[in-house]
Amino acid sequence: MTDNRILFAIAKTFEGAPIVVLGIPEAAWEYMRQGQTHQFDLRKAGVPVQLVVFGAPDHAAAMEMLKPFTGDHFIDARDLHFGMDRITCPKCGMTSFARGDIENKYCGNCHQFHADMEL
Ligand SMILES: [Zn+2]
Repeated sequence: MTDNRILFAIAKTFEGAPIVVLGIPEAAWEYMRQGQTHQFDLRKAGVPVQLVVFGAPDHAAAMEMLKPFTGDHFIDARDLHFGMDRITCPKCGMTSFARGDIENKYCGNCHQFHADMEL
């Protein structure tokens, strides 16, 4: 039997904000491609959010799949940027999501500020 479950981890970011990380194995991806949803009630883990993940052939189909969960009460915010801020070291290529590294342009792997690096 194929295990089609999505893996998730809940942790705290460097700023103390909760972060949810999803790992989607190929079997879970195929399950969603068939129109099925994965649902998580993260309140059971102390995070006041319920999460639904699904696949759809395009944005229009995905918008229709939102409706059983939200009705028509959602905002189309596809033009907004929800990606996490990050910084990539020009020397070693490591990417960091830590606020301090981003603000200070610092690499915790090289232990150097980007401005002080000899590239
Ligand atoms: Zn580096």
